[in-house]
Amino acid sequence: MTASFAPGAYVFPGGGIEAADASPNTFAQTRRRPTQDDTRLVQAIAAIRESFEELGVLLARHVDGRHATTADVAALDRHGPFVAQCVARGLTLAADEVFILAHWITDRDLPRRFDVPFLVARVPEDQEPVADEKEQFEPVWVRPADALERHRAGQFFIIFPTIRTLERLQAFARVDEVLASCAGEQPWFVSCPRAGILAGKEQRFMEHEPPFGELALVCPEGQMVHHLDWQSDHPVPLLRNVQRLTCGNPGVMTGPGTNSYVVGDPDTGHIVIDPGPEDAEHQERLWRAAGGDIRLIVCTHSHPDHSPGARPLQALCERHGHKPPLLGLSSLPTARAASHFVPDRELADGERLVLEGPDHRHTLRVIHTPGHAANHLCLVLEEDGLLFSGDHVLNGSTTVIDPPDGHMSDYLASLDRLEAACATDHIEFILPAHGYVLGNVFGDAHDATDVIRRLRLHRLQREAKILAVMRALPEGTMQDWLAQAYDDVPSRMWPVAMRSLTAHVERLRELM
Ligand SMILES: [Zn+2]
Repeated sequence: MTASFAPGAYVFPGGGIEAADASPNTFAQTRRRPTQDDTRLVQAIAAIRESFEELGVLLARHVDGRHATTADVAALDRHGPFVAQCVARGLTLAADEVFILAHWITDRDLPRRFDVPFLVARVPEDQEPVADEKEQFEPVWVRPADALERHRAGQFFIIFPTIRTLERLQAFARVDEVLASCAGEQPWFVSCPRAGILAGKEQRFMEHEPPFGELALVCPEGQMVHHLDWQSDHPVPLLRNVQRLTCGNPGVMTGPGTNSYVVGDPDTGHIVIDPGPEDAEHQERLWRAAGGDIRLIVCTHSHPDHSPGARPLQALCERHGHKPPLLGLSSLPTARAASHFVPDRELADGERLVLEGPDHRHTLRVIHTPGHAANHLCLVLEEDGLLFSGDHVLNGSTTVIDPPDGHMSDYLASLDRLEAACATDHIEFILPAHGYVLGNVFGDAHDATDVIRRLRLHRLQREAKILAVMRALPEGTMQDWLAQAYDDVPSRMWPVAMRSLTAHVERLRELM
């Protein structure tokens, strides 16, 4: 409990890089890989020195190539000048055996912040760690899976970066496999996690985890203020002029429920995007969130969880004296009966819907995006660089492509259009109809463009797998192909996956 960093926690040994770690004299006493640049070399040297000082583990070799032994360690003073002592004993530092594993940057809300490469190396066979009793106290060897198990049982306190690193490490059966995965000199990931409040507790998330984008949008400086629990009682303010109301219709197909968005402010009036299914309480909440001033109602598409609430919301507004037009795209004959839809006015691709205030405006630009549904559209909030993606891009679930109204080639072409829009409009965040906000600061991992690229890659990887299965089983039925191409998906999801499989098969036949 007296340690200077993470008191009471099990941590990896480590510490700050010192000037001597980067000196030409130290470099001259160090083995390096041809691919190891100076930065990686200095990090490796600091790690070797810290492991020695804190734990008495010495990653060094004699001239004949033998590793340093317990006897070598015992002969050195752990508080004396490190490199000079190694030289005197004929040892060179084995930085060529140290690899970068991950790169962590401490979260923004913490008073002391660190930028830390996590490094990995095999410890020489006969050495045993002995704690320095200053920074390390109780060295243990523990398998990653066992550490996580004991942590879950409350018997092994570890902090977030340790937990996530062990989660990745537990996938490897052997040290050699870990080292081989690090041969590229690049970390598995670079992460600066973000924190929010979920189920009454502080919880942290990495860039690829569902709540990250929302935390980046709502609390950019890392303030610990945002609640992530899903509820349908009150609006969630995402920006000063953007609120989200989630309908109380959670389910297998709707995730936490359908997200309706209210864009605008008291000076400009509001546009409601996707009023949801018919649900009087939900439409009443939308009306209240807009302060009773709804100028337009827009549906991204006409599936039953998105558009049936539009007419009731319009009628509610009309009872209060003003009837906002209902905008969108009419359903095509390919749509299922429950998705039949005719707006008051058809939206043109590229059209701008403008809310005008005395000194500012909010502009929503329409992008036609067929694929999930033939009458699907997305909206770009130009002033804020946000994309309302409807069901075309989701967080926490995969968009279903259900032919004939859904179409895989159209879906992919629409993704291309959205990616282009992200670049031209500097879009950082995507607000989906199901799940948390996606995205990150423009240009960082998992920003809006990156999210779309990963989505496309995911689809194309699935398609490649389907194509391989079709070639291996040319006489197979759709059921045969489904079982193999979606063997990583729980079988309860197969009825839904069958629709996507059909869409992929249709596209592959179009391409052949
Ligand atoms: Zn939906």
